[in-house]
Amino acid sequence: MTDEHEALLSAVRAVDRLNSWVRAPGDKGSNAKPMTYHLKNLALKALHAAGLTTHRPIRVYVKCRDCDGSGRYWHWCGEQLDHCWACNSTGKAALTFVETTIEAAGLRWHSPWTSFPLSTHGIEYPTQATPTDWQPNLPGKAMEPWEVAAAFCEAERAFPEKPYPRHTDYGTYHIDQYHLFVGRLPQDVCAICGEPAGEKPISYHCSRGRLEWCGAACEACEAVHKRTTQIFEAFPYPVELLRRREIVEWMNGHPVVERSLIA
Ligand SMILES: [Zn+2]
Ligand SMILES: [Zn+2]
Repeated sequence: MTDEHEALLSAVRAVDRLNSWVRAPGDKGSNAKPMTYHLKNLALKALHAAGLTTHRPIRVYVKCRDCDGSGRYWHWCGEQLDHCWACNSTGKAALTFVETTIEAAGLRWHSPWTSFPLSTHGIEYPTQATPTDWQPNLPGKAMEPWEVAAAFCEAERAFPEKPYPRHTDYGTYHIDQYHLFVGRLPQDVCAICGEPAGEKPISYHCSRGRLEWCGAACEACEAVHKRTTQIFEAFPYPVELLRRREIVEWMNGHPVVERSLIA
């Protein structure tokens, strides 16, 4: 194993942790999921180019989401139909993936067939269920915000290619401008005035620059802002959540954050 391969595999493990974390319960910054999948695709290409991958087709059956496995379909007008078109009334939906084994890292990754970033030339489209111990949508492993920051830093350093901007009806968005969720402030203290938050603190999911966090507001602060969204501007940056070295490093590399406010 060369040093180059070692560095690649270390970054691949960082992507793997993010790829699991995005399926774990808990708060995430906006766009964390699409950015993770972008990095995973870049990692797959790099691994493939380095000759560190083998691929095989996978077909698995899961409960049909349209009919919830019943094979019957509730039409929006309230009428139950005898046929579910999505699964042909079998109650099961077939999903196809490319399974990539990265033996050197001890990892197996699954890409939906239609979004596999490499050519599927030479991989035969599966028409029957594949024996496998894997199933899709398994819950992922949670990470602390500083672990997420560190993983993104390492992965983005190794795979710097930017994703194409996505054009939607609401404008253009850039998935590499994802937000970092930096944690939850204590819920018993008002994050705005610093007083005890009282009996019924209201928790807010705040977003500023590229940072997101949760903080509580007391009733008095609520009243000042008349329960409008203006209250979000009253939340100061959550300085105590930003002290970890890994979070500082992330902020240094992602300059949309107003650094003067979080020194
Ligand atoms: Zn169905
Ligand atoms: Zn307050």
